[in-house]
Amino acid sequence: MTQRFCEVALPIPLRSTFTYAVPDACNGEELVGRRMVVPFRNRAMVGVCLATSHRAPESAEAVRIREVAEILDSLPALPHKLIELGHWIGRYYFAPVGETFRAILPPEAELREEREYWLSDTGRAHLEKLAAAGQISFEEAEEQRVLRHFDVPQESALSAPSRSQKITQAAVEKLVRCGYLGARAVLHKRRTRTQKIVAWNSGNADVPANDLDARIQEVLTATQGPLPLALLTKKAGISRAVVERLAKRGRLLTWEEPVTQEEDDWHTDFTPPANALNAEQKSALAEIWRWLVAGKFTAALLHGVTGSGKTEVYLGAVEAALARGKTAIVLVPEIALTLWVGRLVRARFGDRVAVLHSGLPDAERAREWWRARRGEAQVVVGTRSAVFAPLENLGLIIVDEEQESSYKQEEAPRYNGRDTAVYRAQLEGAVALLGSATPSLESFRNARGGKYHLLQLTARVENRPLAEVRIVDLREEFRREHKAAPVSEPLRAAVALRLKEGTQAMVLINRRGYSWSLLCRSCGAFVQCQNCSIALTYHKSRQRLECHYCGYSIRPPKQCPKCRAEYLYFVGDGAERVEEYLREQFPKARIARLDRDTVRTKREYQHVLGAFAKGELDVLVGTQMVAKGHDFQRVTLVGVVAADLGLGRPDFRAAERTFQLLTQVAGRAGRGELSGEVLVETYYPEHYAIQHAARQDYASFYEKEAHFRRMLHYPPFAGLASILVRDRKIENAIRWSRALAGYFEPFENRGVKILGPAAAPLARLRREYRFQFVLKSPHRSALSQALSGCVDFCASKEIPDAAVIVDVDPISLA
Ligand code: ADP
Ligand code: ZN
Repeated sequence: MTQRFCEVALPIPLRSTFTYAVPDACNGEELVGRRMVVPFRNRAMVGVCLATSHRAPESAEAVRIREVAEILDSLPALPHKLIELGHWIGRYYFAPVGETFRAILPPEAELREEREYWLSDTGRAHLEKLAAAGQISFEEAEEQRVLRHFDVPQESALSAPSRSQKITQAAVEKLVRCGYLGARAVLHKRRTRTQKIVAWNSGNADVPANDLDARIQEVLTATQGPLPLALLTKKAGISRAVVERLAKRGRLLTWEEPVTQEEDDWHTDFTPPANALNAEQKSALAEIWRWLVAGKFTAALLHGVTGSGKTEVYLGAVEAALARGKTAIVLVPEIALTLWVGRLVRARFGDRVAVLHSGLPDAERAREWWRARRGEAQVVVGTRSAVFAPLENLGLIIVDEEQESSYKQEEAPRYNGRDTAVYRAQLEGAVALLGSATPSLESFRNARGGKYHLLQLTARVENRPLAEVRIVDLREEFRREHKAAPVSEPLRAAVALRLKEGTQAMVLINRRGYSWSLLCRSCGAFVQCQNCSIALTYHKSRQRLECHYCGYSIRPPKQCPKCRAEYLYFVGDGAERVEEYLREQFPKARIARLDRDTVRTKREYQHVLGAFAKGELDVLVGTQMVAKGHDFQRVTLVGVVAADLGLGRPDFRAAERTFQLLTQVAGRAGRGELSGEVLVETYYPEHYAIQHAARQDYASFYEKEAHFRRMLHYPPFAGLASILVRDRKIENAIRWSRALAGYFEPFENRGVKILGPAAAPLARLRREYRFQFVLKSPHRSALSQALSGCVDFCASKEIPDAAVIVDVDPISLA
């Protein structure tokens, strides 16, 4: 039999796959899509096989082709369609193949990497030399001690010694670099976490001996069936000792099972509202049914005002897909919403649902991933990367809040989850349903031009009115009050009114921290991050100035670091200050703040939102985290502090972002029986983004914004790419930018407009200097030609891969 070879994508930032020889034992097997452990440099790595062949690669003579060490999955991890999708991501976004497939593969939760060490021949010689020497230094004595630890009789390797032996990993690695120790990484299979399951032993005919027994029997038989031990003790109100005693007497059976989804605390005891669909919802759903029946690729935009009941349409669409024997993916823009939407979907479809997002621990995520892969789950709810959910026979992909920038991954592979969803639907002959109250210009244009179908929900459910929006002109406010409080007087008064009538208020401020910056009134400089060209934000609770980009932080200085003057002032109020101000004004009110500083975990987040939903809080202050998706019934006021913050950004989407944010927050008010009011504070009341948001008039905003975009050749009227050149040494960054400028120049004549190189808006980030090119073209093909050549050009000029970031369809240029 001839030797077989396979092409393996490894999780490293390189643009190539690697060839390995297939062991004879696996010769008949299908390998494409399976994960395998392979030797790479001096370690073991898990990659995925993308192709096999019988032809040795051309370079085979020069390098020894190593053999695959182990093949992991009996069921290939990746179905063919996902491999195809991965190749498309590579082509369209110029993403390195290894990183692309790393994003697609399940977490390696079942594997654990460990380093093993052994004494090398050089090391043994060195030890002997030290032993023979009369006097040795302190360092040498230390070396001797560590090397002796590895001087074991047989040729067995040792893993890193424990801390009790006072040998550090660093000391060991140093000896590896000297050549005294050999090292390799090995992968071990991890044991899956299990739990004890308890069942009533019905084979044992004895009647329950006492009340306690009877209670346990009832819990385990009548309603629930076998239960995990922890749940049983809670439900029956008994101790573990009782279970053990009964098990010993043969009344209970116990066994170990892998921990499964059912024990997730967040989906217990939840009854979703049962809504009869209204006419608009019904007709949207009827359309979707037709497309599913046709079984052909269809893309559609569901444009529904906030509170119009889009979620019901999603649920109906998923149900329709399942009814036709198909599977479905529901993408939501952030982890918090997987809880909210996931709960609704679970309540409707139970065990058939898997939830996937990056906030899950690896083991949990792997378990959910494989449930989808094995077909045990047919619906996946998740964030961006769930677009790669390994479902087969896909009928439907829903992208909720399709305009959200969180669908764009800001590291390699730099894909957009929404666009990938549409491509995947095309690949699988499925329906792609993009939903939003404020669609991106891209999607709305596609819907208008007939590329997507347009479904509309024009009214709120039960014809509830949209909230009334009032604009507070901060310039006038300042003229009147001659001071600037963190919250304007009309907003303060509106909150006071809600407190008096006992309804709830949300106050949105899209900046974290206490003050945005610390300004020296003497020299005019802001206190800046050491690593980034950005002003540090003051966090009062922690007494720190922090960089929100790299995490650098210092104690607030007493003197200006530049001119030594002592006239330092905090400028610009953030969420922390707004909360403090409201507490000062309303000492009796129950106020909480929701942003990344106050909530770090899913549980904390749920806790705060849960308390607000239950009416245990009066006012919720928050960053844009509070703006999205949630459905609170008793909120009658939403205030937006400094609504125009985003408008000043050097970003062609600034107006769109502001419009979307304001419309979304306005949508949070007046969702229940009570009607709502929205107060928007701004210095630019006449700006079209603010005006149209206040009227919740998407169509007019679209017209105006589309006009500017068309004139300035921005998406959706042109393809856009950004190329960032970065390095810690400014000379390198400049030299490479110049070289690239030379490469791009000829494309000017082929319909590509090239801007730059110029200092990027964030000219320095994490100690790296950054220069930027912006490429625009009405012709996609011209753009991708320029880009694909760019990658090769960099390779030929020995510009390191990591120094050049190609971002296709960037979500922001700032
Ligand atoms: P959207 O996502 O469009 O802003 P949601 O899907 O969150 O709106 O729905 C808003 C609220 O309306 C939810 O509380 C939902 O339960 C309710 N709802 C949805 N459809 C109906 C209906 N047909 N009749 C009454 N209430 C409905
Ligand atoms: Zn920084």
